[in-house]
Amino acid sequence: MLSTPADQHSLYIDGRFVSSTGDERIDVIDPSTQEVIARVPDGTASDIDRAVVAARRAFESSPWKDTSAQERGRVLFRLAQIVRDHAAEWAELETRNNGKPIVESEFDIADVATCFEYYGGLATKIHGDVIPVPDNALSLALREPIGVAGQIIPWNYPLLMAAWKLAPAICAGCTMVLKPAEQTPLTVLELAKYFGDAGLPPGVVNIVTGAGATGAALPTHGDVDKIAFTGSAEVGKTIMRAAADTLKKISLELGGKSPNILFADADFEASVDGALFGLFINQGEVCSAGSRILVERSIYRDVLEAMVEKARQIRLGPGLDRSTKMGPVVSREQFDRVRSYQEIGKSEAKVALGGGHARGDGLDRGLFIEPTIFYDVDISARIAREEIFGPVAAVIPFDDEDDAIRIANDSPYGLAAAVWTRDIFRAMRAVKRLRAGIVWVNHMQPTFVEAPWGGYKQSGIGRELGKWGVEEYLHVKQVHINLNEQPIGWY
Ligand code: NAP
Ligand code: MG
Repeated sequence: MLSTPADQHSLYIDGRFVSSTGDERIDVIDPSTQEVIARVPDGTASDIDRAVVAARRAFESSPWKDTSAQERGRVLFRLAQIVRDHAAEWAELETRNNGKPIVESEFDIADVATCFEYYGGLATKIHGDVIPVPDNALSLALREPIGVAGQIIPWNYPLLMAAWKLAPAICAGCTMVLKPAEQTPLTVLELAKYFGDAGLPPGVVNIVTGAGATGAALPTHGDVDKIAFTGSAEVGKTIMRAAADTLKKISLELGGKSPNILFADADFEASVDGALFGLFINQGEVCSAGSRILVERSIYRDVLEAMVEKARQIRLGPGLDRSTKMGPVVSREQFDRVRSYQEIGKSEAKVALGGGHARGDGLDRGLFIEPTIFYDVDISARIAREEIFGPVAAVIPFDDEDDAIRIANDSPYGLAAAVWTRDIFRAMRAVKRLRAGIVWVNHMQPTFVEAPWGGYKQSGIGRELGKWGVEEYLHVKQVHINLNEQPIGWY
């Protein structure tokens, strides 16, 4: 329900909350009840333009232009502290808006603070090189901020995806315009209230809420230097095409259909647990979800049985209930999408568990999907090839190591993969052969801000997090200094 005017949000441009130039607003729902909990502006192209103008001015002028790396580091440390101070409140808001279990939101918010802190520390460690060149010259490679960044993020980890974009860009000295997902704009708008307190000058970070069309104004804008996008491969391709006219630097973190490979020699309990955790965490709304579970044929039946037994006990409910292990999916659109894949799955494979939406026990008002396990899935099936982004598993048997790797790599995507085995040689062979940006051995999903994140093949371009993440926001400038005082003497 819409209780106070505070639930009527504005855009954050040039250091202030301002109205949109348009009248359209977007209803923000609690997916556990489908009640409208807030309304945000559906930003227009001219809102995006205002934000880009503010970001450009902030980039070109003092104080941001002259802010030292030490000061940028301190800004990021202050942001980390602000997030920690509001952790409980923002975790609750995240769960209300996204649906995920509160414990998962608490982890996410803690990760947000860690992300700001990591890039706070990195700010003073960005430096160039001195290159040995002949002819009595000094050759330098300087690192400079790329300029104005346009950042477009999805709804599955709302504030964390914002932090993954904002922190490295601030660290590098860029300015930015961020468009959150239309479904989940609330936590980043809360954070924006504290940008001034953290010491960010007006215009450095701007937040424009809205739908896809709002975001589409960023890649085509002539004064945006770089686009960072996380979301579907389909929209990623649209953005890449749109950015071509102005030849922007782009980084794309797209989806996947990540294989989770269980060998017969693995610890049985641990690998079954890992198969479930690798997929069902966050309602399956994870870009690196282990949605193709490849199982060695000798343990295939046992694994399937154990998976079903454990998945049957996953408790669905509103995320704010601490006994909930799986919340609703984020939106009606996503609910319909996942439901349609469940129906496709029924025509392509056998159902071991679930296959519909969850009913009863107060679930009827919400967007709850049953944890679903399909088995004997052919590798050409749509549910084995297309990203579903929900709690739907495709279990596929394999014969031997070569077979497992062949199936694992047979995908247009290459974001992540996991392998479960007690044989270190087999694990290392798999690590070498898997075509993915992240390979886990005997685990799936842990992600650390210090380590690189990104995809092979159609899972993306570029890397986020760690020292790699900041590179996406930096230019390299070559400087050649002639140390000879006499003329060149050519003409
Ligand atoms: P999406 O359409 O790719 O959305 C990602 C972001 O891009 C959102 O902020 C979205 O705005 C914006 N956007 C949409 N069209 C745009 C355009 N033409 N130009 C610029 N920005 C645009 O993803 P979705 O609609 O939320 O979900 C659809 C599917 O995408 C999911 O089922 C899943 O397969 C995949 N997905 C992947 C990830 C990931 O982390 N890899 C995350 C989320 C979704 P709106 O919020 O208005 O759509
Ligand atoms: Mg969308």
